[in-house]
Amino acid sequence: MQRFFGLPPSGELNQETLVVMKKPRCGLSDVEHFGDTIRWKKRTLSYRLAGSTLPISASRAHKVLRAAWKLWSSVTPMKFRKRNRKEADIVISFNNGDHEDSAPFDGNGGVLAHAFLPGPGIGGDVHFDADEEWSFNHSGTGVNLLAVAAHEFGHALGLPHSSDPGAIMYPAYSFVPNNELQLSFRDVKDIQRLYGVSPSFSLLVSKKPPPRTPDKCDPDLSFDAVTRLQQEIIFFKDRFMWRKHPQFHKTGITLINSLWPDTVPSYLDAVYENVEGNFILFFKGQQYWKLRQLTLSEGFPRNISDFGFPSRIKSVDAALHFRNEHYTVFFTGHECWRYNEQQSVMEGSPMLINQQWPGIPSPADAAVFYEGFVHFFKGNLHYKYDLISEHVVGIISANDLLECKMEENNQTTTERR
Ligand SMILES: [Zn+2]
Ligand SMILES: [Zn+2]
Repeated sequence: MQRFFGLPPSGELNQETLVVMKKPRCGLSDVEHFGDTIRWKKRTLSYRLAGSTLPISASRAHKVLRAAWKLWSSVTPMKFRKRNRKEADIVISFNNGDHEDSAPFDGNGGVLAHAFLPGPGIGGDVHFDADEEWSFNHSGTGVNLLAVAAHEFGHALGLPHSSDPGAIMYPAYSFVPNNELQLSFRDVKDIQRLYGVSPSFSLLVSKKPPPRTPDKCDPDLSFDAVTRLQQEIIFFKDRFMWRKHPQFHKTGITLINSLWPDTVPSYLDAVYENVEGNFILFFKGQQYWKLRQLTLSEGFPRNISDFGFPSRIKSVDAALHFRNEHYTVFFTGHECWRYNEQQSVMEGSPMLINQQWPGIPSPADAAVFYEGFVHFFKGNLHYKYDLISEHVVGIISANDLLECKMEENNQTTTERR
């Protein structure tokens, strides 16, 4: 399970693993493997919302279900028809606790729903936990029914869980407020492998192409922010992060919100850890978030003017924290600022980056201390800077620290007979 969520397979349950396990999730077992062969033979499926007592209004529920089916029908030749009374291929219901399918629900939180793979009878059926606080809006309170329905319908069509944290078929619930729900590139590929491509769908010309999860081996990869966190370095990109731990062999990708609460936004500008103060700060636009022990501090997010930035500064590009000297350097455009952490004041006026940090391009994307050097990130490059000689000592690819070794070409040897 740890491997599945992109966590180091340490074999023991550390704090991070427990956070992921407590996250709301789909109830389908992670270890089941279905193979690619379970799918519906027909291309038009009927569905029915069963049960006389719904925790939500039927008309609202139907609207959401239609939207969830549409995600899958827009990329495949599949069609979904609603039925009110007669038997349907897929029966959808809201259930409390034990509902006689040997997979009882656990009340509010935890497991949100489950579904059965295609087949007769209960096959293809979808059950939602009636004890959740289901929501229909984009505000992010409660559990978004559309996001969960889209995922469960994927199972009802025959898809297993995906280990791609960007996929709708990833088992942990994730919902980005105020963002239109979309199938990911992986989801589209997977469902099309089962049912083929919708004649009206093209990955190339679609107006809003399905988002691809960033790949640490992409030579064009750039980062939003990079920070130290205890022994780790964390690289942030969009909704995702890579956690590089000195004791772990592989650096896996995971969702930012698999560790920190949903209040920590995606597409961050800068992040740094203050070890002495035992907190971590996330910057995006004019706001910043303070977290202690994975919990958002009260009263946050707050405005970056707290640090003494003038109002012309609308965002921070990068932050570099000096643990022993108790100060932080902020990078904004072509300027850098020195913030005294002990007195909570900005020291003096901003300096020009090209004077203070010769050879470092500005604006920068991210900056972090690692193994005695400062590493600056800009586009797909990273600059290794020696503080003593005040020189750039190396310019390498941005993803170099993620140990992306080129896949060796497995040349097929022709067997002699
Ligand atoms: Zn699932
Ligand atoms: Zn059930």
